[in-house]
Amino acid sequence: MPPTLLCNCACDYCYQDKTPITMKPEVYDAIRELILSSHELTQKEIPVAWYGGEPFLCLHDIAAFTRDTASMIGNGKLHYTFVTNGTLFDAVALDSIRKRAIIKSFQVSLDGPKHYHDKLRIYRNGKGTYDDIMANLPNLAEYGNIVLRVNVDTHNQGIMDNLFTDLKATLPPDLRPSIYFANIQRCNANVQSDPERYIGPIRFIESKLKLSRMAARHGFTVENLPQCNMGCTYSTQNAFVIDPLGNCYKCWDFIGNPSFIIGNVQNYEDIYQDAEYLRELQFNPFESQNCPQCNMLPLCKSGCPAIMNSDLPQPQEHLSCREIQLIYKKCIKQHIKFHDIETQEVSHENIS
Ligand code: SF4
Ligand code: SF4
Repeated sequence: MPPTLLCNCACDYCYQDKTPITMKPEVYDAIRELILSSHELTQKEIPVAWYGGEPFLCLHDIAAFTRDTASMIGNGKLHYTFVTNGTLFDAVALDSIRKRAIIKSFQVSLDGPKHYHDKLRIYRNGKGTYDDIMANLPNLAEYGNIVLRVNVDTHNQGIMDNLFTDLKATLPPDLRPSIYFANIQRCNANVQSDPERYIGPIRFIESKLKLSRMAARHGFTVENLPQCNMGCTYSTQNAFVIDPLGNCYKCWDFIGNPSFIIGNVQNYEDIYQDAEYLRELQFNPFESQNCPQCNMLPLCKSGCPAIMNSDLPQPQEHLSCREIQLIYKKCIKQHIKFHDIETQEVSHENIS
């Protein structure tokens, strides 16, 4: 959940509308109630993803929320991930959070080596953020794993080697963050960057595999295995994206679109009867024509359920099933090669 849509940066590819709204105490209280009721029911840990805007702008509020919530459900029951731009650090707030919640990871984005990153990932005054992020990574690593999201575009593929060399030279030897490569996209009208920078999905996968080999040669762990969509908020019961006003949605990309609001966390019990909530939860890949016969189904789950349900537009260039199957096979093969896993040849005839 984003505690604020505000950010100290001004990246031109940002999809947030930066409305100056910050979560109020009554919204934190309502989220706590929702967590308590969910925890009473399942007794399981509660995963919370903090993102923004920049969530570190509200780190003291998050620390107070964590303290009050942990006093009711116990320490270690909240499992946090932070999506942060990595420019800010607050040891007092993080110490307080760490006493009561498990911080799993900080996801920090880089756009390539310094000279390229600093043109794109900039503060509101236009200054580049690279040096501050690099200085902060060891601090953040004291509190949780670092996952570097490296954005790939048409201009930076050929210069990524410089980034890995610099990461290796600058970070302490015991800090080797895991890396994943991401394809930046024009997901809504807030995105201002040049469309010419976007790589289509097929070229992106080719680049990703090449860059993964390069990063691995520099000693970084790269996760390339296809991720199962099963855990996505859209199709999971009792999983919500909550904006700073307490409005609840089923997908990160819906924030700000009133037609996708399924209720407000301050009346969360009403959400379970909301027609939009029930419609979105009912997405069932077994109802599609081809998927039940395809052995990619548990992984692919027909791709993005919000797109399959026509809630989000189909991207202009999208992958055919045959392309999805080939890409998944390539990623799995590369993973096997990297990890030196012994395999037996098996027939793939049942791939539709
Ligand atoms: S750091 Fe993230 S939230 Fe802030 S402007 Fe850049 S993309 Fe948007
Ligand atoms: S590859 Fe195609 S047929 Fe197979 S699960 Fe994905 S969408 Fe369905």
